[in-house]
Amino acid sequence: MIKYIFITGGVVSSLGKGVTAASLAAILESRGLRVTMLKLDPYINVDPGTMSPFQHGEVFVTEDGAETDLDLGHYERFISTRMTRFNNFTTGQIYDSVIKKERRGDYLGNTVQVIPHITNEIQDFIVKGANNSFEGDADIAIVEIGGTVGDIESLPFLEAVRQMSLLLGRSNFFFMHLTLVPSVSSSSELKTKPTQHSVQKLREIGIFPDVILCRASRRISSEERSKISMFSNVPMESVISVWNVDSIYKIPSILQEQGVDDIVCKTMCFNPSPADLSVWKKLVERIENPSCDVDIGIIGKYIDFTESYKSLIEALAHAGIHTNSRVNIKYINSEDIENKGIDLIKNLDGIIVPGGFGNRGIEGKIMAINYARENKIPFLGICLGMQLAVVEFARNVAGLRNANSTEFDIDTKYPVIALINEWKDISGQIERRSVDSDKGGTLRKGAQNISVKNNTRTNGIYGASLYERHRHRYEVNNNYLKCLNDAGLIIGASTSSENLTEVIELNDHPWFIGVQFHPEFTSTPRNGHPLFIDYVKAIINRKFSKSV
Ligand code: GLN
Repeated sequence: MIKYIFITGGVVSSLGKGVTAASLAAILESRGLRVTMLKLDPYINVDPGTMSPFQHGEVFVTEDGAETDLDLGHYERFISTRMTRFNNFTTGQIYDSVIKKERRGDYLGNTVQVIPHITNEIQDFIVKGANNSFEGDADIAIVEIGGTVGDIESLPFLEAVRQMSLLLGRSNFFFMHLTLVPSVSSSSELKTKPTQHSVQKLREIGIFPDVILCRASRRISSEERSKISMFSNVPMESVISVWNVDSIYKIPSILQEQGVDDIVCKTMCFNPSPADLSVWKKLVERIENPSCDVDIGIIGKYIDFTESYKSLIEALAHAGIHTNSRVNIKYINSEDIENKGIDLIKNLDGIIVPGGFGNRGIEGKIMAINYARENKIPFLGICLGMQLAVVEFARNVAGLRNANSTEFDIDTKYPVIALINEWKDISGQIERRSVDSDKGGTLRKGAQNISVKNNTRTNGIYGASLYERHRHRYEVNNNYLKCLNDAGLIIGASTSSENLTEVIELNDHPWFIGVQFHPEFTSTPRNGHPLFIDYVKAIINRKFSKSV
């Protein structure tokens, strides 16, 4: 039988609940337990797929093609369990499902209400999500409840897990509450009152936390812990300090040193082997002792809100770990390149144009790609970045003047990137995609196995095949392939069924690769990712062979 750890948040949002939950999961996994994770989002959108990255941050794409909360990215980076569409759900999905049942007559004429119908549906979704990650049972499902205690939206979720705990029985659930312990003045005195209030709020709804995780600018003192313990009715050893750190990969050790995993195991009657965090400690050691620095520019649109590039930022950090380097990321707004010129990116060791949607800043990105190609700066284009690299090459090398993607110029004379109106999705179903299609369901999403062409750089990196995740609508237009190939564009990989371009690369360049998929979603700190590692290696080689 699966046991459940529920994690709630108090005082303010964005305290790092996802990372904290995932760090605990990493410790439990190191103790030999089979752990899965779920994220419950209280907003009404069915999924974050249509939400602006400015508001919601990155949309994380699972192997099975679900557009999910970015916390699922943290889960996959910290533990080995792969997430699926069942590991994240929203109020929108719950209501959608309940209303469909109501229309079908499943409720036999009863009045459909938040309690019990919505709360029961939430419980069913939790159980389904928890049961779906392993053949056989997981030992533990860690369930992160989005939002902050006291929000109207999260109430049905809290009520659902409260009811669930009653049904599960005392040794089968565990409640953790992550809260902020702020310091108000420069005196650095920490204030415990907001924590007391948020625990009171939880207890009002019948949830009694087993552990309180206190996020603060520094380690909280035993006096402060004893105060929180007293007011919150939690033993002092269960008041845990989570202070600000420069790398999220230090958090498993921080939690483990304070014995959180032992408290969990004791309460839920597990008796696993001791924790072994040596891999995490080694990672941190490498992060802290890099032998060189490289500066990589991300040329994007969402640069004031770097949560939008979460997985990419992490993937670059992982590549740093595995090449003994520190990757410094410079965020550059592509519209600034349009207005202020290319000088903005002249001191970079590497240039990345990441994924994105919409018109803004497109020409600035093309200018950056042009600069990287002509000046032999290692370049990685991801999804939109790859499409724009094709546009740049078509315009400036293949002689297709004003070539464009139909996403940005529907009347372009040379639509080198365009919609494929008939598309087989990964399950083999035909999906029609056109400019008029609904925004929600028309993307090519999820992981696909793709064979890699011989004698390409892509082959050197991936070997004979690759398995990567997609999230895009437009494709390289096959009608222009020959013309682009003749001008020197190399196709590193394409799909076997429709011959859609997956990777482009250039010769006569230290490293110039564009990928239609999102490699950042599959990078983990423990293994890194071959594409990012090769990219950073190329940057190091170029930078340091030049200067000697
Ligand atoms: N906007 C492009 C498309 O829809 C690229 C999407 C992306 O970068 N994820 O194909």
